[in-house]
Amino acid sequence: MSTIGVAASCSCLRPGVWLLKPGVQKMSCLGLHTAARCAAKDCYEVLVLGGGTGGITMSARMKRKVGAGNVAVVEPSKTHYYQPLWTLVGAGAKQLATSARPTESVMPQGVDWIKSRVTGLDPDENCVWLENDKKISYKYLIIALGISLHYEKIKGLPEGFHHPKIGSNYSVHTVEKTWRALQDFKEGNAIFTFPNTPVKCAGAPQKIMYLSEAYWRKTGKRSKANIMFNTSLGVIFGVKKYADALLEIIKERNIAVNYRRNLVEVRADKQEAVFENLDKPGVTEVHQYEMLHVTPPMGPPDVLINSPVSDEIGWVDVDTETLQHKKYPNVFGIGDCTNLPTSKTAAAIAAQSGVLDKTISMVMKNQLPTKKYDGYTSCPLVTGYNKVILAEFDYKAQPLETFPIDQSKERVTMYHMKADMMPLLYWNALLKGYWGGPAPFRKLMHLGLK
Ligand SMILES: Cc1cc2nc3c(=O)[nH]c(=O)nc-3n(C[C@H](O)[C@H](O)[C@H](O)COP(=O)(O)OP(=O)(O)OC[C@H]3O[C@@H](n4cnc5c(N)ncnc54)[C@H](O)[C@@H]3O)c2cc1C
Repeated sequence: MSTIGVAASCSCLRPGVWLLKPGVQKMSCLGLHTAARCAAKDCYEVLVLGGGTGGITMSARMKRKVGAGNVAVVEPSKTHYYQPLWTLVGAGAKQLATSARPTESVMPQGVDWIKSRVTGLDPDENCVWLENDKKISYKYLIIALGISLHYEKIKGLPEGFHHPKIGSNYSVHTVEKTWRALQDFKEGNAIFTFPNTPVKCAGAPQKIMYLSEAYWRKTGKRSKANIMFNTSLGVIFGVKKYADALLEIIKERNIAVNYRRNLVEVRADKQEAVFENLDKPGVTEVHQYEMLHVTPPMGPPDVLINSPVSDEIGWVDVDTETLQHKKYPNVFGIGDCTNLPTSKTAAAIAAQSGVLDKTISMVMKNQLPTKKYDGYTSCPLVTGYNKVILAEFDYKAQPLETFPIDQSKERVTMYHMKADMMPLLYWNALLKGYWGGPAPFRKLMHLGLK
């Protein structure tokens, strides 16, 4: 990273106004009072795009840095979801309602919530465009737009979801269908898919498979189910330590894994799923199903594709250690929409938020960012209704575990952490900008052993 000094100015600003120390400006950049909750301004010291996990977390942290009235979040959705709970909702272990809260209730008090969609970014002019052609300017921009789901890239979807026997934990509209299909299961193939694209929480496509297997065991239907994991990948999991543990479970529970198989069509009226063989172009296989769980293809949000802030695919192009944009020093990215080469999870966002907070502080002081993100991410691999393998790892796909125990073992304690503790931590600490990941605990835990 060469440049770090921010020469940017809000295009609506009087010259020199940014020489004021961040956080001590009493007036907005337009000289308007900023107490009103409804966005009435068109220029902010910190503008956050997206009010999901990363956006709300960073807006809470920025509020503490520059004052609530100088921060705004652009987010169209009235409801904020804690998506990691959907794995358990799809398996009937939690209610969907427990994963949802009004966006208003998670928006940090005093921060302006702009209820709109971003339609364009102009980082050379320090502004973004909204749906109604309104322009909003900023001094610092944080992009947290998440990842887009593309069910429509599979022939026969999304309309196929109107039929029974098919569900998907990845969308609020289809997660409860998974639970219905699981309960309706009588006899035949139960197929779980993994697409040929990056995904969020790469463990989730198989977590629901282990839960389904456990459910059918509990209800006496296991012998009637032929369970298959059809994955586009060539491995079960990207970190060897956890992959080895999962392969043991797969063997013990008599699950078939078909690698390099990509779902391309669903004929929901006939309960047929069509897969392409990624190693034999043009060769497809048709499987009858009694239950199908779809993990959809995913990609960057449309607004980021061909945007000046994005790489050639459409992910926000940030420095892997500081999360500062590689070309625009007053632009930052966090979470699923970035090209950070780690697994896209809320746990990763927690660690990223602590680093990004420090990076922005340094940039605001015209100093070089020093705190470095190591790629920390975590995936609680739910392998039953009371079992979890807690995978934690870094950019190098090396385990980076918090607890001084063998985390590749299935544990009841880790299940309770996933199902009961993590939601509390999410709503009460992460979204409020107080949880920067488990690194301090890891140090303490491991120190305690010395
Ligand atoms: C089934 C499932 C299981 C999961 N399990 C886990 C787990 O066990 N552990 C874990 O850590 N993570 C898990 N995750 C992943 C985790 O939920 C995500 O990685 C995390 O929520 C991503 O946060 P984000 O801020 O990047 O995106 P999001 O939280 O998705 O937020 C993006 C926001 O941007 C908004 N937006 C999009 N386009 C625009 C636009 N044009 N203008 C304005 N706003 C826009 C959206 O409305 C959304 O609110 C799971 C996810 C799923 C679906």
